Amino acid sequence: MSLGDGGTALGDVVRRSNSAAAGLLRWSGSWPRELAPAQYALIGGIFTAAYLGLEWLTRVHELEGLGITLWNPVKALSLGLLLLKGVAYAPVLFLAALLVDLFIYGAAKSVASTVATSAVVALGYAALAAGLTRGLGFAVGRSDLRSVIALLVTVPAGTFVIACLYCGFLVWFDDLPARQYWEAVQHLWVGDTVGVIIILPVAMAASGSVQRLAETRPAVLLIDSGAFLAGVLIALWLIFSFEGAHEYHFFYLLFLPVSWIAMRTGFVGAAAGVCVVHLLLLALISWGGYPASTFMGYQLLVLALVFNGLLLGAVVDERRRSDELLREQHAEVVRMTRHATAGAMGVSLAHQISQPLSNVAMYLHVGRQLLADKPADPTSIAESLEKATSQLRHAKDILERLRDFVSRGTLRPAPTDLGALTRKVVALAGDDARAHGVSVRLEAASVPPVTVDALQLEQSLINVINNAIDAAAEAGRLPGCVTVRVAALDKGVRIEIEDNGPGVSDVVAKHLFEPFVTTKPSGMGLGLALSRELIGAHGGTIDWERIRPDGGARFTIELPLSPEVGHGA
Ligand code: ADP
Repeated sequence: MSLGDGGTALGDVVRRSNSAAAGLLRWSGSWPRELAPAQYALIGGIFTAAYLGLEWLTRVHELEGLGITLWNPVKALSLGLLLLKGVAYAPVLFLAALLVDLFIYGAAKSVASTVATSAVVALGYAALAAGLTRGLGFAVGRSDLRSVIALLVTVPAGTFVIACLYCGFLVWFDDLPARQYWEAVQHLWVGDTVGVIIILPVAMAASGSVQRLAETRPAVLLIDSGAFLAGVLIALWLIFSFEGAHEYHFFYLLFLPVSWIAMRTGFVGAAAGVCVVHLLLLALISWGGYPASTFMGYQLLVLALVFNGLLLGAVVDERRRSDELLREQHAEVVRMTRHATAGAMGVSLAHQISQPLSNVAMYLHVGRQLLADKPADPTSIAESLEKATSQLRHAKDILERLRDFVSRGTLRPAPTDLGALTRKVVALAGDDARAHGVSVRLEAASVPPVTVDALQLEQSLINVINNAIDAAAEAGRLPGCVTVRVAALDKGVRIEIEDNGPGVSDVVAKHLFEPFVTTKPSGMGLGLALSRELIGAHGGTIDWERIRPDGGARFTIELPLSPEVGHGA
């Protein structure tokens, strides 16, 4: 049906298209009030010129002079305009499609089908853009996995519907024999889909993830793109060095460099990579003068390559983003924990160093008494002073390590013999225990070295053993007794500190490891809280249990052999 014999039909089509366009604009409501006519005309003019120029450049395997080609990057341009500037630009697209038919394809179709198919292109792509942005939240500037999947699903589906309608009108207006309908649909669908999903992702990558690429070191970028290009060239050489029916045989080789660049550089590299591969393929196919059927085959394979590359690139970006988020969240948690414990740590300093300071006072007192003896024993005095000095050094060390832990969370792990460390702590606590009438027994099996910050662990042990001595001192009729056991585990070491005291009071049992929980008149309730903090920082645990219903407590510390230290880093 042509204009000559179908004036009424043409009138119908134009009326239908116009009212559909008006309806779409009303529905989308995206005609910006402030859109100046001059600006609209300028953008529209530039777009139309670019559309005509690009269509003229890309007349590849045109079907019967109907303006249906196997590669339509103009459709990426069209969708890009509608996505970026809104569906208010659909009339511009209508005009551009009309002009292309008139000037590039020499008015080969009837006027009616030219108008109808141009309207299908304009309305179809406007609907596609509206569906993507409004329905799926797609934005050109975002290249997250969701947007990429939305693009890869919606575009092939949308272009298929457009191709069906477009060719339907061609058949209706007698510009295409009905038997060629599916061939034309395939032709148009392949050309439009490849055109859009190769070019549009480049725009998405350019506005979205190019920043990520800029953060990559230039040398790494150079090596990655060099390896990619080398891979592509080798694959293309293999593909095209075999003439005839076997030309697709080595196509799969192109998946290797595309996957490589997607994995190395994410979506931006994948988008640019598939674009480069496609352009090189186009050049080789045009140069080789391959028939349309071969070209169609390549375009379909390119589609698979694009899907693979873009999805892989988007997944790599997503993975990197979630890794970054995880790192940021971890750093935030560590910072908050450190701040929360910093106050408790500050107060606990006094608690931590009170033990060595009272030892200093004791050794100085002993020294003074020894001085008063007649005759004075210089060796014992020196020994007492040396012990006082060593305790002062110990207090200084504690101050330094705690300061490190609070300010930078630095642990200084080193392979440590926990048997020897426990022996030292038990010996240190010996005087205090004896003063309380408590005996301390050590049962230390030989254990493998454990990578810990020895001083911080020593602090934890002192806290727990001192508590046990305090509790055992209240054992009542029985002599107070504390047992410390060191044993090897499968992949760690366990230290148990057991006492026969009255047991943990019910009042504090539920909150035992929280700061400022104490039942002692002069206690600060920080020893166990700090111990849990320090042991936790070594990847270990501390827990307690009742030994008997009427009393007794067992504290168990478990440490892995090579803990992931540096929780506070
Ligand atoms: P502090 O010793 O300053 O009270 P801790 O955090 O070391 O602070 O201990 C908190 C509380 O836990 C103690 O006041 C005590 O009531 C209870 N506790 C700790 N160890 C034992 C134990 N071995 N037996 C009974 N109660 C204990």
